[in-house]
Amino acid sequence: MSSINPCVTCGACCANFRVSFYWAEGNDAPGGYVPAELTEQVNAFYRCMRGTNSGSPSCVALQGEIGGVISCSIYADRPSPCREFDISINGSNPACDRAREKYGMASLITIVEVA
Ligand code: SF4
Ligand code: SF4
Repeated sequence: MSSINPCVTCGACCANFRVSFYWAEGNDAPGGYVPAELTEQVNAFYRCMRGTNSGSPSCVALQGEIGGVISCSIYADRPSPCREFDISINGSNPACDRAREKYGMASLITIVEVA
């Protein structure tokens, strides 16, 4: 199996969902770390990454081309949903597989089987 992390040439999950999280993860709250200027308020308790609260979501912090060389410009300070979103190994995270399929990339079930 390849040791290359498929996420570095994917990024599909960053352009597929609303990335929302408790407002106090923003760096305008004590102990917060996510750059607040890259977020927007969802309601009294939650905010989301700018660009992800639409029918065609794409996070403002995403840099590069989906399916090509891609990265998160705030990786060290990304919010909890991004930290908790697992890469799918043999179908372990169907949301990852669906996001990849939306952008024409094979699910990692296939990649793991043929690598
Ligand atoms: S959709 Fe899956 S493989 Fe692609 S960047 Fe997200 S976690 Fe990684
Ligand atoms: S903050 Fe980074 S990891 Fe999270 S959705 Fe945006 S680009 Fe992706």
